[in-house]
Amino acid sequence: MQVSHSFAGSCELSVVIPVYNEEAGLDALISRVTASAQAIFADSYELILVNDGSKDGSWNAICQHAARDPRIVAINLSRNHGHQLALTAGLHHVRGQLVFVLDADLQDPPELLGPMLEKVRAGYDVVYGQRIKRSGETAFKRGTASLFYRTLASMVDTDIPRDTGDFRLMTRRVVDQLNAMPERYRFIRGLVSYIGFNQIAFPYDRDARFAGETNYPLRKMIALAVDAITSFSVVPLRFASHLGMLFGLAGLGALVWVVWAWLQGGAVQGWASLAALTLILGSVQLLVLGVFGEYLGRMYMEGKQRPLFIISEVRRHPIAANEEPE
Ligand code: UDP
Ligand code: MG
Repeated sequence: MQVSHSFAGSCELSVVIPVYNEEAGLDALISRVTASAQAIFADSYELILVNDGSKDGSWNAICQHAARDPRIVAINLSRNHGHQLALTAGLHHVRGQLVFVLDADLQDPPELLGPMLEKVRAGYDVVYGQRIKRSGETAFKRGTASLFYRTLASMVDTDIPRDTGDFRLMTRRVVDQLNAMPERYRFIRGLVSYIGFNQIAFPYDRDARFAGETNYPLRKMIALAVDAITSFSVVPLRFASHLGMLFGLAGLGALVWVVWAWLQGGAVQGWASLAALTLILGSVQLLVLGVFGEYLGRMYMEGKQRPLFIISEVRRHPIAANEEPE
């Protein structure tokens, strides 16, 4: 496993970072990641930066860094694919025996590589960062995140740890398994839990963003949550039968009451109650159809088997490229 030089087709560590409009923080990111990787692995590492269709100068900046530093691999996606697919693209290019994943905004401190590595050396295959404190995040983000993890846990058999992101150090065999999963609705932290082996949490304080602002507005957070739930659970599909039973029982109760009231001589009247009941029933049926549609749509999209990501350019140091052609 010991390889003296990262150009030799394989190296000890691959760092994978998806980048979307992170120009302002890139220099700081690269210098901090380089410092911590170099301190441990000397030259036997690579830093894979995946530009996910940034609209700012991120790609140019990445290319400049890659031209100066042969350990930097620059990957440009053809357009914005979203965080999880950008990360997937990076993971498909790793050559390291260990893979370190972090965000580009320095919310996950690169300096934790050393302490996380100790856990891997102690026999763990996945060391995932678990947030104790989330600086710079609004109460709303914390609240929705917590609600999401609770809902997910109640629906999913796989034990997906709460308050984790994609910040983690993994061995190559985990990444190989991950890369063998063809699904397009990827909730990577969940897939990693599903893979198993020995996993351990690594509690850390999540810093505030170094520069720029979050690329995860509420809309994307909801989409990620729906991806997570639908790709790990079919529990929502059972809502239909549960709701059916609930409304059936309620209907039966209402029937008994109506008959009883009629026997007492009290006329049961009112179209308002009927209208309300019809509306409620109608909306519940539509809701259930919507849930079915969510699963059906995903099956349809998966069925097309389109590639997960489209790459427009990979810049690797020429020596590395000669030794292991793409
Ligand atoms: N990101 C990406 N594509 C996107 C959105 C985000 O590659 O469409 C990257 C982004 O550059 C960062 C990571 O994904 O490295 C996490 O994004 P962000 O920090 O905006 O999310 P948050 O930390 O607020 O959840
Ligand atoms: Mg962030």
